[in-house]
Amino acid sequence: MDRFLLIAFLCVNWSHLAFSQAALPWTYIPNALLGPANWAGICSTGKRQSPIDIKSSETTLDKGLGAFTLKNYDRKLNKTFTGSNNGHSLGMSFPAGVYNVSGGGLNDVYTTVQFHFHYGPNNTVGSEHIVDGEHYAAELHFVSYNTKYADLMDALNHEDGLAVLGLFIRVGGKNNTAFSFLESARNLTSSYTSISDIPAFRFDRILPANKTKYFRYSGSLTTPSCKESVTWTVFRDAVNISQYQMNLLRQLRKTYTTTSVGNFRPVQPLYDRTIRTSFQVAEMTNTTSTKINTTVTSNWAETTTPTIADQNGTSLISSTGVATTNAEESPPAPTVEFDLGSSAVGMTTGLFLSMLFASMSALIVH
Ligand SMILES: [Zn+2]
Repeated sequence: MDRFLLIAFLCVNWSHLAFSQAALPWTYIPNALLGPANWAGICSTGKRQSPIDIKSSETTLDKGLGAFTLKNYDRKLNKTFTGSNNGHSLGMSFPAGVYNVSGGGLNDVYTTVQFHFHYGPNNTVGSEHIVDGEHYAAELHFVSYNTKYADLMDALNHEDGLAVLGLFIRVGGKNNTAFSFLESARNLTSSYTSISDIPAFRFDRILPANKTKYFRYSGSLTTPSCKESVTWTVFRDAVNISQYQMNLLRQLRKTYTTTSVGNFRPVQPLYDRTIRTSFQVAEMTNTTSTKINTTVTSNWAETTTPTIADQNGTSLISSTGVATTNAEESPPAPTVEFDLGSSAVGMTTGLFLSMLFASMSALIVH
């Protein structure tokens, strides 16, 4: 991005904030002043932030955490879904009132309206939650809102507003046919694009086979505005996708917000929260499903030969195995993202100016 475009971009953000108080720019770049450690508002001050490190030895068994009722998750309906690349991730959105989540210790019925992915630049990192300090390669979030509220944006303002089902993803083995929709990512490589004719697919096959073993805690959105309105479910068992399918995600063109660092937020302090489990944690020692497949992980190296090519045989990812980025891209000011509401963010002019400088420096460096 040249200097002129950079200045124009920042000015747009300035006016946007001054007059509409839309969300501030933010990035996943670890040491940038707009990076995760400096995200504004409750992101920095909250005591119920997500994700967290799930320390299995510190969890509490709750026998009240029973099985979920997942309405229509087991059906391939005659509908189409919308897939989007919002500059941070690939997401799929669904009509409200069709796919519902209840049971599983939830007091209300939640309706599923979208899911999206978090992943890293390689297979050793990428999940947002970690278990006993270990990352998975990716994490998928099914986002549902409480049907007693008018819509997703309304629900964001309530402690019991959202229920997110999180599942860990490892890389290895054959293509997982439940994730065939990832082929649509070929048409979403550019940021801020969407396609609305993706044939419906079954959700239950995306989730782990065992849906009764999970962690539960109260937390937040993992992107600004970081609202603390999420009842989190993180399934114990991971699912596998192939390296090819992982690369389909990584080929998504990223914006300045992610660069090559991935799109996962670092874990946040637990404070006085309790992590409950639907299962005896001792069971975890009897399964390998919660551990990263180190063999697969070690097979991934920065020298891995790209396996994704377009129809002309042109590689869509760089020789390092990391999706290429388009530094010339000038994305619009982010307003509504997959994980967040477009709530107003209060801040002082001084802080805003410092963040503008940070934004500028981050953009120039990257
Ligand atoms: Zn998420």
